[in-house]
Amino acid sequence: MLTQVAEGVLVHESEFVQSNAIVVQGRAGVLLIDPGVQDHEMACLANDLSDSGWTVVAGFSTHPDWDHLLWHARLGAAPRYGTARCAATVRDLLSDPGAKADIIAHLDGTGIEEHVPLDLFGLIAGPPAGTARIPWDGPQVRIIEHQAHAPGHAALFIEERGVLVAGDMLSDVLVPMLDLNGAADPIEDYLAALRLLEGVAGDVDVVVPGHGSVGGADEVHARIERDRAYVLALRAGDVPHDPRIGPSAKPGWEWVSDVHNGQAQRLRDYHT
Ligand SMILES: [Zn+2]
Repeated sequence: MLTQVAEGVLVHESEFVQSNAIVVQGRAGVLLIDPGVQDHEMACLANDLSDSGWTVVAGFSTHPDWDHLLWHARLGAAPRYGTARCAATVRDLLSDPGAKADIIAHLDGTGIEEHVPLDLFGLIAGPPAGTARIPWDGPQVRIIEHQAHAPGHAALFIEERGVLVAGDMLSDVLVPMLDLNGAADPIEDYLAALRLLEGVAGDVDVVVPGHGSVGGADEVHARIERDRAYVLALRAGDVPHDPRIGPSAKPGWEWVSDVHNGQAQRLRDYHT
């Protein structure tokens, strides 16, 4: 089911980790951002789009994590983009012939491992050099690239619609997850990324996280502050007072506390 969140911007929610696929209406078709996770969900999205008479004319992956790189044959063969760094990271990943099997192995026990189609996985390219916008015939979509969570992670700002697509940041259910795979200063990277988002926050009416609930204008600054407070607590080695972990976590999201504990431990070991 597609839910309109702003004029010409709709969201299709996947049941796996409340993942959000975002549809932006353009002149000749739609831009599809992070299409979703499971086979039947993407097929459902493809149905919703064709029922509305829309074809996908461009795709975008906010970052090179498996759950943001999927695609379904029924969504068509439009060009798919990510940042150049995201595309390079995926190319690297796919140069390992065992990469797809590893993704499925990693999903073992989640119950969705048989429903994640990998045929069209990761077929993305960077936008033409020198552009910070998605090349397509529709409202301008500014690519706000930063180094947090994953290499080449991007938020997208659809200024005319007041919509910020945050990728895996600014979630109401998931705490910030740092990129602990070789970044020199993952904490500072994350804080810098939050400052970038803060730079546009005044013009944002709707924030759409990669996972979790869509937030209104009043939520944008609050989510930035919450993420920053979490990251600063991590840096200080404190226990974050964060509603997303501990007893205040939403039902079904108790596992986020484990993610936090694991991350805090990895961070303690990171530079040693
Ligand atoms: Zn994700």
